[in-house]
Amino acid sequence: MIKVNKLSKKFDDLSVLKDINFEVNKGEIVVIIGPSGTGKSTLLRCLNYLETPTSGIVEIGGVAVDAQKHTNKQVTQLRQQSSFVFQNYSLFANKTAIQNVSESLITVWKTPRNEALQTAKSILINVGLEDKLDFYPSQLSGGQQQRVGIARAMAAKGEVILFDEPTSALDPEWVEEVLAVMQQLAIEKQTMIVVTHEMQFAREVADRVIFMEGGYIVEQGSPEQIFEHPEHERTKAFVKRAL
Ligand code: ATP
Ligand code: MG
Repeated sequence: MIKVNKLSKKFDDLSVLKDINFEVNKGEIVVIIGPSGTGKSTLLRCLNYLETPTSGIVEIGGVAVDAQKHTNKQVTQLRQQSSFVFQNYSLFANKTAIQNVSESLITVWKTPRNEALQTAKSILINVGLEDKLDFYPSQLSGGQQQRVGIARAMAAKGEVILFDEPTSALDPEWVEEVLAVMQQLAIEKQTMIVVTHEMQFAREVADRVIFMEGGYIVEQGSPEQIFEHPEHERTKAFVKRAL
């Protein structure tokens, strides 16, 4: 369902992603771990062309885009296959929770407004925010804002939700409620790619863990393989420090 083939990314002379290859099946939960500055965010951003890769092919939901010969139309189609949950929520400050969640339904999918609001409402109920529908982001806690962020990603109807450290900007007291929503999504078999430092989440929820360092995928496998029996020295060293 997701196929990344020979992906690379350079910022000027700095080579940040080097020959990245992996696949993600429908319903799979893939967690990406690795040291800071290793290219994890850049990889996620390349998957929906928030950053344009230098070379390689990204294919999601049947839309394949080759970095070296892509059209704007292809990029628009590719972007509709995924949605992003950012570390700092990036909600529209001047829109309420329900407006934030219904936005893409109305503008991208041309869903009639009333129907979009109904859908947004039911998603917000799902993430436990039934009493916050008409609240603005500034009136919500960090955990509540991030749950709106996840609800918005769910509404976007993409094949995959990409999470870039969704809990790392949160006060510790809000982390659990956000992880619980993600765990629920995993149970519902929502395909997800999650960059996180939450090793316990990775161990419990991931179907597969990818360890990245220095712009490469060093090793990937089941949580048990990566955390209990890592093969590469660099994975061993990272896992030892992280756990
Ligand atoms: P962290 O765990 O700290 O979030 P990361 O693995 O997500 O790190 P990236 O943010 O992908 O790392 O950054 C990888 C490298 O690319 C870093 O050296 C960073 O400075 C560089 N980089 C990222 N974005 C840009 C940019 N827009 N222009 C130039 N260099 C960039
Ligand atoms: Mg990052």
